[in-house]
This record gives sequence, C-alpha cells and structure tokens, in this order.
Amino acid sequence: MNLDEYRRAAGEWLRENVPTDDYPEADAIARAKEFMAKLHDAGYSGITWAKQWGGQGLTQAEDRAFAEAARDYTLPTYVFSIGLGMTGPTIADRGTDAQRERFLRPLLRGEEIWCQLFSEPGAGSDVASLQTRAVPDGDHWVINGQKVWTSVAHHADWGLLLTRTDVDVPKHKGLTMFVVDMHHPGVTVRPLRDMSGKANFNEVFFDNVTIPDEHRVGEVNDGWSVAVTTLLHERLSISAGVGMGGQKDNPASLEALRRVLDTDDPLVRDELVELHIRSRALALFNQRLAQETKAGIFPGARGSAAKLLLAELTLYQADLATRLVGPEAVLADQPLARAISMAPGMALGGGTNEIMRNIVGDRVLGLPPEPRVDKTVPFKDLKVGTQA
Ligand SMILES: Cc1cc2nc3c(=O)[nH]c(=O)nc-3n(C[C@H](O)[C@H](O)[C@H](O)COP(=O)(O)OP(=O)(O)OC[C@H]3O[C@@H](n4cnc5c(N)ncnc54)[C@H](O)[C@@H]3O)c2cc1C
Repeated sequence: MNLDEYRRAAGEWLRENVPTDDYPEADAIARAKEFMAKLHDAGYSGITWAKQWGGQGLTQAEDRAFAEAARDYTLPTYVFSIGLGMTGPTIADRGTDAQRERFLRPLLRGEEIWCQLFSEPGAGSDVASLQTRAVPDGDHWVINGQKVWTSVAHHADWGLLLTRTDVDVPKHKGLTMFVVDMHHPGVTVRPLRDMSGKANFNEVFFDNVTIPDEHRVGEVNDGWSVAVTTLLHERLSISAGVGMGGQKDNPASLEALRRVLDTDDPLVRDELVELHIRSRALALFNQRLAQETKAGIFPGARGSAAKLLLAELTLYQADLATRLVGPEAVLADQPLARAISMAPGMALGGGTNEIMRNIVGDRVLGLPPEPRVDKTVPFKDLKVGTQA
C-alpha cells in the first residue's frame, strides 16, 4: 500500500471508529481502553515500534501519514500519553527483553495505563535531588517516599519510578529506576486539582512498597542516564502532541478561532497568520526531529528547544484567544476557558521554560554553564528537600 492509500485507509478507519457520542465521564477510561484495543487491532498503535514487542514495524512516513489523517479528530488517548510517549519508549530503549515482552504490548493495546514518578516536593527542576529511597532486601527492593505532580497516577497500573539507592555518592550517581506496581497496597494516590478545575495529577506516597529486582530498569545507581532517556522522549512527545489527538476540538486552535472571529479585520488576520506560522514551523521542526531520531541521530538539546517552542506557542495561543474573544473566553465551564487555564502548565510540566532555556544556552549556543557546586558532594551532605 502506498502512502496515499495508507493515509486514506487510516482516515476511513478513524471516521468509523473515533467515538462521537456523548458518554458520562465515569465511562471515559473504559471507552479509551476499548478504543486503544481497536486501534491496535487495526494496526495503528505503535506504528514505528518493533513488531516483536507489539508494534507495527513501519516507518516515520506511515506514522506521519496517520498523524495527518488524525488531525481532524480528537482521539480519546490522553490517559495513555505518558505510556506511549515516555515510559514505553524508555522500556524499549533501556529495559530487558523480559520487560519489553511483559510491558509493551499491553501498553500499546491500552490494557495497562502508565505514569511517570520523578518529581518530588523538594525535587522538580533539580530532579536529581530526589529523596524517595529504594533499599535492597534479598531479590526485592523496599521503597519509601513521596512523589508529586504525577499525571494520570489515579488511573495507572504501572509507574516508572526514579529512586535514591546510594546517599554516599554525588546526587546524579546514586539513583536507580524501577517499574512499580501502582496497585501495591503500600501505594497511596491523592489527586490534586489544578486551576482548570480538573484533577489530572496527583501526590503519590510509598510506604514499604516492594519491587522485584527484575523490575529494575538499567543498572543499580545508573538511574540518571535512564531518566535522561525518559526526559528526552518526554520533551519530544510533548512537543509532538503524542496521545493528545488532533487539533480539531482545541478551542484555542487557529481553526477554532477562525470559526468564532470576523477575520476581515487586518490586525486580527495578522495575529492569526502569526499563529499559523508558529504552529507550522513547530510541526516541521518536530517532523525533522522524529525522522532524525528514527535514523539514529540523537536530538539531544534540540528536544528541549522543541518543548520550549510548544510551551511558548501554547501560551501565545491562550493569550491571543483571550484578547480576541474577549471576556467570553474565560466563562467558567467553557472549553476555551479550560484550554486557557491549562496553558501555563505547559511551561512547567516536562521541564520549565527557564530550564529548557538553560539547556539550549549551555548545549546548543555554547554559553557558559550554570555554576554547579553540588556536583561532586555526596548526596547526604547536600542541603536539599528535608535534608535542609
Ligand atoms: C501539568 C503538569 C504535569 C506534570 N506531570 C508530571 C509527571 O507526570 N511526573 C512527574 O514526575 N512530574 C510531573 N510534573 C512536574 C514537573 O516536571 C515540575 O513541575 C517541573 O519539573 C518544575 O519543578 P517544580 O514544580 O518543583 O518547580 P521548581 O523546580 O521549584 O521551580 C520553581 C521556579 O524556579 C525556576 N527555576 C528552578 N531552577 C532554575 C534554574 N536552575 N535556573 C532558572 N530558573 C530555575 C523554575 O523555572 C520555576 O519557574 C508535572 C507538572 C505539570 C505542571
């Protein structure tokens, strides 16, 4: 099948299968799981992932063709976005074959939901300062500590968990990554409500949670390099909008704004053209990064640039919608108000704009790096978190 046929077939499949009926929010997860299973059966989930682990083994060209066909739809796949965009690719890159075998196919079929457990109350931008401990006990590890801002943890079956395993070495050198069972009795998940009124992220507490050593990802004390793999996938997937569906129902998109505005005004048209240019430039940049990644070219700090550009675009879109639509834009319970109130979170989640700028300044522009006096000090001697 050539690409045009592939795109046409994907469009037809989406037209027939993307749910358009209204259903109660309580049914949303069951409906999303049902949709993912159908998507996988039809060959459109994990398009570029290895066939051996449940993917379709196709190329970026098919992936892009599907994304183009999906642009006209809002896919109910948000709850799978961490698994598809971040934790799944990390297991694929850094996990053992047994982990790939166990976790990737159920993830691609929507049978299991994943979350990413890195941030803590005392460790966000400086995530290597985290304090959640993992202590070995025979062939298991025992976990105690707290995470925060964990998106979709209240629905998750599995979490990718970054822990501290050695306090006697510098902070980046004593971390280890695990897959944790979110249904373990020692895991407590408490939803946090954000200013959009929704509770999409959570606090997560670990009280003597046990994890078998076979669920360790990477070597003991090499968790930082695994985390860097996840963060890279996170930035690329956020900027590419993995699991976010199309722009069709985004109330702050160019298409939506054009629907509600009288576009004869040259100043308004000018602003909309600016929005179009920025959106298009970012889409092309993402396309290039995806092609390069597939070809084995490491995007490195350019992934941070893409994430920064998306955050800036989202803020610009929200600001523009507020100015052009006026007070109606912020009426409670309106989709546009929700999109506007969620926009600032984009400049924080996945690394803040300031941190992205630091990375770009340091690694792309070659500016002098920030002074890092804590790089060689044993973690236990640092004044961070509750150690302060
Ligand atoms: C919507 C959303 C979803 C999220 N989902 C997850 C998730 O699923 N899993 C997860 O682990 N985390 C998640 N997070 C947490 C996110 O990764 C952190 O919020 C982020 O890394 C910032 O950390 P912090 O909130 O502790 O802020 P801090 O690190 O305390 O930063 C506070 C302010 O100081 C600035 N700052 C800090 N250090 C520097 C510096 N060196 N130079 C310049 N400025 C600096 C920051 O830019 C920021 O403005 C999510 C956050 C949001 C908003």
